[in-house]
Formats: sequence, structure tokens, C-alpha cells
Amino acid sequence: MINSEIVNELGKVVGEKYVSDQPEITFLYHYDFITAEPEGICDIVIMPNSAEEVQEIVKIANNHKIPIIPWVSGINFGSTATPIKGGIVVDLRRLNRIIEVNEDDMYALVEGGTTWADLQGYLQKHNTDLRAGVTWSPPGTGVVASCLCYGMFDLGMLGGTGAEFINGLEVVLGSGELVKVGSCCLSDYWYGRQPLPDLAGLFIGWEGSTGIVTKAAIKLWPKLPYRRNYLVVGRTMDIGVPVMLKLSKVGLGICDLVIQNYGWLQSSLAAHEKKIPIDPLEKKLPDFAGIITTQAYTQKQHEAQCEAIEAILKEGRLIEPQGIDTDLLSTIPIQLWGCWNFSRGGGGQWIGSYCSTRDIAKFYALARDKALKYGRTPQFYSRILFGGHYCVARTNINFNKDDPKEIEAARQVLKEIHEDVQSIDGVVMYKAPPWAHEVYEEKTLPATTELIRKIKKLLDPNMIMNPGHGWGS
Ligand SMILES: Cc1cc2nc3c(=O)[nH]c(=O)nc-3n(C[C@H](O)[C@H](O)[C@H](O)COP(=O)(O)OP(=O)(O)OC[C@H]3O[C@@H](n4cnc5c(N)ncnc54)[C@H](O)[C@@H]3O)c2cc1C
Repeated sequence: MINSEIVNELGKVVGEKYVSDQPEITFLYHYDFITAEPEGICDIVIMPNSAEEVQEIVKIANNHKIPIIPWVSGINFGSTATPIKGGIVVDLRRLNRIIEVNEDDMYALVEGGTTWADLQGYLQKHNTDLRAGVTWSPPGTGVVASCLCYGMFDLGMLGGTGAEFINGLEVVLGSGELVKVGSCCLSDYWYGRQPLPDLAGLFIGWEGSTGIVTKAAIKLWPKLPYRRNYLVVGRTMDIGVPVMLKLSKVGLGICDLVIQNYGWLQSSLAAHEKKIPIDPLEKKLPDFAGIITTQAYTQKQHEAQCEAIEAILKEGRLIEPQGIDTDLLSTIPIQLWGCWNFSRGGGGQWIGSYCSTRDIAKFYALARDKALKYGRTPQFYSRILFGGHYCVARTNINFNKDDPKEIEAARQVLKEIHEDVQSIDGVVMYKAPPWAHEVYEEKTLPATTELIRKIKKLLDPNMIMNPGHGWGS
């Protein structure tokens, strides 16, 4: 049972200042901005300062069989850091050191609680020739957390999902043991996961339910002097998506390709939801917007790239609207709080999925139809990743956080959208809630589900790591 003795025991590991079971402190850790279902409760929060301290904490949690949840800012959009079975939340933000930037192999070795602000700040201060791919999430959110959860960045066309930016990991397993995976298990270089058995997968896509990552090497990329963002619009997704797919296959220094519908574009511009039409097509407004980012080493190269991109846009009948400052698109990290701003009720949830690039328009059509059927603004966004090899597609629905009925209604629409898009082969949700895991477990081969369960049990024998989240929980 959780009691003050356990708090005292934990206090001996980190110092009493860094552990608390007091409600005014613990509230932050079960407060969930997208209103998790079920709600969570943080019994104790603790802030370790080293991998050894993390090990001690995990051992104590094992002794008492208390759930333990890794946490950086808890706004990952799937509520996957919400302690839905109570327990100890491990706030990793003291583990935020940038240990090394290797300019030759282009990676940053960071601690598990490093935020985007920590990493960006470090790279700026040390004026390196390298840059990180960054998210649209607020600067105080976690770098490693994002990579582990298949997040995606503004260099996604070059590097793929955040998971593919990971070169190696140091992890405290659910059993309390410390392991290293990747080249770092044999040397001081963290240049990659090759050529050893790729054990990083034991911790990627598990929502912190197999171990706590205490160090990670994250790929950085050359900072090229010439960069341009295009924002283009077209009448419908059916017109815009093929142009983006063509762009994904022509090189041209393109490092990011984003597709949005009218609802998403307006929300990211913080437009008042009630003041924009739910269905732009009825009003003859463009329902496709694309963002294309290209970068180059020389001016001549840049001009040639831009010329070729513009020719493809013209051929595809996409136009650049006037009066929008596209430099804003490269102000990083961009904070997209506008999407859930006051006029939208402050709440939002999503169906975020990976899928084949063939099905972007189809995914959108299904999501749009369902949202409109219930009178909700469909907000759709897709990113084409890894040189056009696959993509992410997602739909958000906003809601008023103070209205339980509206929250329930929004969830219902999203569940129905999820059901509908399951008719498209290959659509798989990431940062998935427990109900989606159940759907997928029924779909996979029984032996696959069994293998996942065995791995989970091996790494977390007492099943205390982030219970209720991740596969095999
Ligand atoms: C407005 C907004 C925009 C966003 N845009 C993007 C975007 O463009 N791209 C994107 O990728 N994400 C985006 N996100 C989602 C998310 O916030 C980011 O991915 C973020 O970087 C993850 O950090 P977090 O602090 O939210 O993670 P948390 O919520 O604290 O953690 C996420 C998950 O990882 C686990 N975890 C955390 N740290 C560790 C660790 N060290 N070891 C093991 N498990 C761990 C947690 O238990 C949890 O399951 C956005 C979020 C918001 C609110």
C-alpha cells in the first residue's frame, strides 16, 4: 500500500525535496489536458537525478508492487503518461543534460527527460552546424518521449518518425536492471543500432511500459543555409494529395511535407471555430493545404530546387495564398496551442494513425464524412515521411473541457472514425488508448500477441511499468 513510509524510502534515494505525495504537487501529474479515459491518479511523484536513482526507484516500486510511470510533460496526446492505475510518477525533467554532440556522426546524446527547449537551447548556445528535427509540441515537452512514441518532426521526409532518429538507448528495465542497446553497448560511440540485434524495439512504441530510458542518442542533421517553406492550397484533397505524393518522390531537398484540411489550417491559425464554416466545400473554400519545406547548401542549388517545385505545383493547380508569413512555419518549436484555444473549448482528441500514402485522401474522406454527420469540424493533418515511404494521418475533434457530455460526444465520433478507417488496410493508431489495443490484439496473429505479452513480462516481471498503457499490459 502507498503510504508515508514509501515516501520516506524514496526520499532516501533522491532527497526529500524531490519526492511528494501532497495533492497540490501531485495534481499536475494526473491532470490530463485531453481528459484521459479513465482518469488517472498520481499517488507519489519523484524526480531522480541519475540512472542509478531511477534503478533504486524501480526496485522500490517492485518491492511494493506499485505502478511506476515515466513522465516528462504528460501532454503526448494519447494520455499515455496518465497514471490510470495510480502509483509513482517519475518526473524525468532533472535528467535533462545534453551529454555530447557528435558532429562527425551527427547525433546528440541526451538524458531521458531532455525537452525540446533543452536541446534547441544547447544547439543554439554552442552554435553547431547541426540542427534537430523538431515537433509542433510546446518547448517543454520531451525529446526522447516523442521519439519513443513514434512522434514526428519537421525533418520527417529525411529521417522518418522519431523512432528512426534513435541511434541507441540506455534503459532501466522494469526489473530495475540497466541495459544499453545499439553501438553504445560495445563502445563510447552512439552512431547507430546496426549491426547488432536491434533491441531498441523493446522500448519503442511501448509507451514506457517496458523500461525507463535514461539516455538516448538522437540523430541531428546538417543546418543548411537556404531554406524555404511553401504554403499552397487547392480545392480538394483529391487534387492536392497527388501533387504532394509526386513531390515526395523527386528529391529537390524536400525535408518536410505536410497536408492539412481547411479545419486544421484554420485551427492552427487560431481562428474561432464558430466563425469558420464546418464544411468549406459547401462555401467553395479550398479544403486542401500543403506545406513544403526545401533546403539547400548553395543559392544556385536552392533556386533550381524552388523552380522545379513551383513547376510541379503549377502543373497540379495548387496556388500560394497571399499575405501569409510562411517564415512562421519554420519558427521552432511552433506551439500549436491555437488548435485547442479558448474559443474551441480548450480540449481536443484525435485518431492518429500510420498508414500507406495511397490512402491519405480515403482516410480523410471517411473522417470528414463522420465528423460532418455529427456536426463537428473535421481537423485533418498528414505528414509524408521518410522520402515518401509511408505517412501519418490524423483527425482531431475539439471539445469544451468543461462539458462532460461534449467530451463524451467527441470521443464517440472519434471511436466511430477509428472504426471507419479500419476498413482501410494498414491504418494503425499510435499512442493508442487501451480500447484501440484491444481492437488490434484481436486482429494480429495470436502468436504475435503472445510474443508481445512474453516480452512485456520478461522486461517487467511484476507488470508495474505504466500499467494500462502500451501493448501487452
Ligand atoms: C500542441 C501539441 C502539438 C504537438 N505536436 C507534436 C508533433 O508535431 N510531433 C510529435 O511527435 N508530437 C507532438 N505532440 C505530442 C507530444 O507532446 C510530443 O511528442 C512530446 O515531445 C512528448 O513529450 P511529452 O512531454 O508530451 O511526453 P510524456 O507525455 O511525458 O510521455 C509520453 C510517453 O512516453 C513515456 N516516456 C516519457 N519519457 C520516457 C522515458 N525517458 N523512457 C520511457 N518512457 C518514457 C511516457 O510514459 C508516455 O507513455 C504535440 C503535443 C501538443 C500538446
